[in-house]
Amino acid sequence: MDRIVYLNGEWLGETEAKVSVFDRGFLFADAIYEVTAVIDGKLIDYPGHAARLKRSLDAMDIPMPVDETELLALHKDLAKRNSLTEGLIYLQISRGSQDRDFVYPKDMRPTFTMFTQAKSVLGNAKWKTGLSLQTVPEGRWSQRQIKTVQLLYSSLKKTEAQREGFDDVLFVEDGSVTEASSANFHIVTKDGTVVTRDLSNALLHGITRGSILDLAKTAGLKAEERSFSVDEAMAASEAFITSATSFVTPVVSIDRTPIGNGAVGPITRQLLDLYINDRLAHGMPIASA
Ligand code: PMP
Repeated sequence: MDRIVYLNGEWLGETEAKVSVFDRGFLFADAIYEVTAVIDGKLIDYPGHAARLKRSLDAMDIPMPVDETELLALHKDLAKRNSLTEGLIYLQISRGSQDRDFVYPKDMRPTFTMFTQAKSVLGNAKWKTGLSLQTVPEGRWSQRQIKTVQLLYSSLKKTEAQREGFDDVLFVEDGSVTEASSANFHIVTKDGTVVTRDLSNALLHGITRGSILDLAKTAGLKAEERSFSVDEAMAASEAFITSATSFVTPVVSIDRTPIGNGAVGPITRQLLDLYINDRLAHGMPIASA
């Protein structure tokens, strides 16, 4: 693979792009990121990702390195340079580099990088089989609404879970579900209501989560935003996760207990189809200027 990546205003071969060992992203995980899916040559839910990027930067007191027009142009340019029609665009902005010090000065120049990952988003095998989740205690920091690169707890726990034969973890705090390692978690109750945790600092405000809630309501489904326990999740008739690159992926078991009849649920499948069709119709074409 020989991708063209973006780094601080330059287009470079992936082996040429270098960041300082003094970068605060490297030393302190002092950086935020975004991931936007591309399918059929279109950026999916781009306005939501661009808006959350701004919120993450504001929360971290990092200046936005480019304006909104330039940000969109960079996404399109990067995808074109790499002939990306399906996969994802990863973007990361760190506070920048300085000699190592907990205290950062006001005038730092952010390190801004973007790269592509080509992958078959629409060929997701888990859409047919569903995921098995393992509950683990919530152990991340308390500002989970900010999309920081501080992902170590999630990475360690997901790796352990996979080694034990699960697909992913489900974080649990004070008896309530927060989210999965890199996706929001939702259930469908026996009366067909889609339930997802309400927004707070306890979880990332997923862009796909918001889109799915809108689509569910438009389709006439009942939807509620509130906390729920692991027991309620295990007693649900369906469960699924949402994220930019996995869209809507069924969850068929938690701690090896089947959810509903242990198969992919009809409402989950309906929401996945609604999402794919809507985004294929309304995604932002990369080819356009
Ligand atoms: N929660 C966490 C912890 C995540 O990392 C992600 C995806 N990066 C999500 C939820 C889903 O967010 P989105 O739909 O915006 O990808």
